[in-house]
Amino acid sequence: MADPVSDVIVVGAGPAGLSVATRLRRKSVLVLNASKSPGWPPHCTGLVSPETAQKLGEEAVTETFNEAVFLDDSLKETCRIYGKPLAVRVSRPLLEKSLGHRLEEIGHSLRNNSLVDDIRETCVHVMGKGWLCARDSVLIATGYSRFSRLFGAKYCDTLSGLEVRVRLSKRISDDRFVTVHGNRYAPEFFTWIVPLHGGREALVGLAARSDIASRLVAFIHAAERKGLLNIDKMVSHRGGRVLRGPPAKHVHRGSIYGLGDVLCASKPFTGGGLYAIATMAPVLAEAIESRDKARLEGEWEALRSELLLQRYLTRLAIIYRPFWKMGLVVTCSVQDRCTISYDRHSSLLECLTRRR
Ligand SMILES: Cc1cc2nc3c(=O)[nH]c(=O)nc-3n(C[C@H](O)[C@H](O)[C@H](O)COP(=O)(O)OP(=O)(O)OC[C@H]3O[C@@H](n4cnc5c(N)ncnc54)[C@H](O)[C@@H]3O)c2cc1C
Repeated sequence: MADPVSDVIVVGAGPAGLSVATRLRRKSVLVLNASKSPGWPPHCTGLVSPETAQKLGEEAVTETFNEAVFLDDSLKETCRIYGKPLAVRVSRPLLEKSLGHRLEEIGHSLRNNSLVDDIRETCVHVMGKGWLCARDSVLIATGYSRFSRLFGAKYCDTLSGLEVRVRLSKRISDDRFVTVHGNRYAPEFFTWIVPLHGGREALVGLAARSDIASRLVAFIHAAERKGLLNIDKMVSHRGGRVLRGPPAKHVHRGSIYGLGDVLCASKPFTGGGLYAIATMAPVLAEAIESRDKARLEGEWEALRSELLLQRYLTRLAIIYRPFWKMGLVVTCSVQDRCTISYDRHSSLLECLTRRR
């Protein structure tokens, strides 16, 4: 095999790869990225808790929300939850851009248009370019891919996600985002409307097993009829896979580490993958630098257990779909007596079992 090009090779310049690479200060790092630039093409709404945003880098926060409004299929309000703020939006290309600048400042290297198609120990094969080796370790952060099997995440449950960015002829409130639950538009998931730029634009999307485009068109027409949206123009569209677990058994295989969607480490109810990335990136960087994996394995086990519990709860909610609305109402009703974490959805159970 070839001579080492760096201490660590990171495969993938999404939030997972860059969050770890920018924390490796005592190692030389080469980041290999398949696309033409980090964060491109964009494929994510970017809704996260304020805590997750803080860990990822607050410079990419573009919107703040104090309310989430839940609607049913006929677009009538079921209930709403509050927080100050409840959630924020990080702009995805902006997040990767700022992490990319940090990477440059530290002096690590980034090679775009470099698709890795094979991995052996600490060496990776770049399509059309040959083998590159790292002295110490390789981090796989490609998103959900064939490398997911390596970590034991081959049965990851995925949905197709589609989102359009629209300019609005009539402003909507920029204080809240809306999700619509029911069988009509997104039977296995939900649809969402997230205001941007002071409510002058919005991201409208859904995830489903099939017919995502026609489902989204039907939803947009219904939302326009109900006056939820007045669309002037479609600006862009984006798509990708929304993951719902179960998370991988392993976070590393010897000197090969994994982070992000490659581990199928999303919150199953919302498909949000940035929480797991923000939680694990510091621990992973520390493990790569110190070669001590005990803390990494412990933290991964704790996060994995939480995500598995969220998966069971989400599956129960889907199986008992007729009671979904009731479940949402119960969720909204307990918020006055305890806090339901935007990230740790199982905190709902703690809330429900807590004595008044
Ligand atoms: C429609 C939609 C909406 C979403 N909304 C949210 C949300 O609101 N909140 C949230 O937390 N999450 C959301 N997610 C999930 C979130 O986008 C992912 O969890 C997150 O992007 C995973 O980051 P990652 O770094 O693991 O992978 P990615 O973001 O997919 O990045 C992978 C990088 O690796 C590169 N790459 C891929 N294969 C290779 C290869 N073989 N060789 C070299 N480079 C490679 C790619 O070019 C890319 O740059 C959403 C997803 C979708 C589809």
